Amino acid sequence: MKILVINCGSSSLKYQLFDMDKEVCMAKGNVERVGSPDAFIVHRPEGRDKITYNVEAKDHEEALKHVFAALTDAEIGVISDLSEVSAVGHRVVHGGEKFAGSVLIDDEVMKALDECQDLAPLHNPPNIMGVQACRRLMPNLPMVGVFDTAFHQTMPREAYMYALPYELYRKYGVRRYGFHGTSHRYVSARAAQVLSRPKEELCVVTCHLGNGSSLAAVKHGISIDTTMGFTPLEGVPMGTRSGDIDPAIVSFLCEKLEKSPAEVVLGYLNKKSGVLGLSGGASNDFRDLEQAALDGNELAQLALDVFAYRVAKYIGAYAVAMGALDAIVFTAGIGENSPEMRERICKRLGVFGVELDPEKNQVRGVEQVISTPASRVAVLCIPTNEEITIARDTAEIVKAAGAVS
Ligand code: AMP
Repeated sequence: MKILVINCGSSSLKYQLFDMDKEVCMAKGNVERVGSPDAFIVHRPEGRDKITYNVEAKDHEEALKHVFAALTDAEIGVISDLSEVSAVGHRVVHGGEKFAGSVLIDDEVMKALDECQDLAPLHNPPNIMGVQACRRLMPNLPMVGVFDTAFHQTMPREAYMYALPYELYRKYGVRRYGFHGTSHRYVSARAAQVLSRPKEELCVVTCHLGNGSSLAAVKHGISIDTTMGFTPLEGVPMGTRSGDIDPAIVSFLCEKLEKSPAEVVLGYLNKKSGVLGLSGGASNDFRDLEQAALDGNELAQLALDVFAYRVAKYIGAYAVAMGALDAIVFTAGIGENSPEMRERICKRLGVFGVELDPEKNQVRGVEQVISTPASRVAVLCIPTNEEITIARDTAEIVKAAGAVS
């Protein structure tokens, strides 16, 4: 069975085609600058060189046509006809309270997705455009929606409710939803496998540290808390996002900067804050910051310290939330590739008996236990794989629905 995974952003479209019989990726790529005259595609057939060329893609539907052409091309393609694809899995950022798991997409689901747009005005519209474009181009192909929020729908009320007037939750759905759920689900399950323990016995904190960062408390395989909230702005500081701040800062800044709340939240808290803002604009990339700190840049050092402190503080909070701490997992760009940041964080966790093995901690992008045998908490580096999780969910759901044999 071949499954195509699609992830649409506002001006980009990422894809991966899987052969699920062997669980291998046949090709992947992305179309960038969708909607602009200089759109281009980067196509990577497995085991061969990547190919980059300009395409005309005024919208996601046109971008998809180029993806289909690349996948079926006689030279750079990996299948001879699109009919070889059994189903499409779509990444959807926000499923609200309607979706606690992945679903087969039909007209009713499309309507429910429309209703979720309000909750994620930046993220959901391009995801939905991708689904609509696929449905128009391949009307008979089963499609599955896999939600970033779904894994966190198991949070108890005490974790997802904000201390705001209750009617704001009832009327407008103001609550913590959490994001990166597909990644937290994948790496927490892998951690149990690597440790040869049933996930039902483990209390794990998963740290997805990338351009956007979030942590989750995964108790016995179930998410019971996570740092991102109503939107992906809450929690630890990120590349350009502030993470937790006193909400009164927003109205204070509106007055001082003579900006609207939307301008402050989008322009400042989302785009100019985080480690970029803290470092005085040095960089939002942790590689640059680590180098700058080594070169004596004090604000770069401050940004790294604030980040490590806040991540460590949440790990402590989640040990309390779960009543135990068996493992800490590092994943995503920083978590997988920065031994320095993993060390900065774990150094602060001595109270839990966390002990990193300095040599094992040197790994980058490799699945490995990086703590010492004596460490009271296992620490792991686990490369995330959201796409394979989407492909697996898609295969499982279309099979169960009898949509494919
Ligand atoms: P992601 O959003 O998961 O793709 O992560 C992207 C981020 O990972 C980049 O912005 C970098 O800050 C960070 N990153 C990638 N490689 C490294 C590295 N070798 N050392 C430190 N940070 C890294």
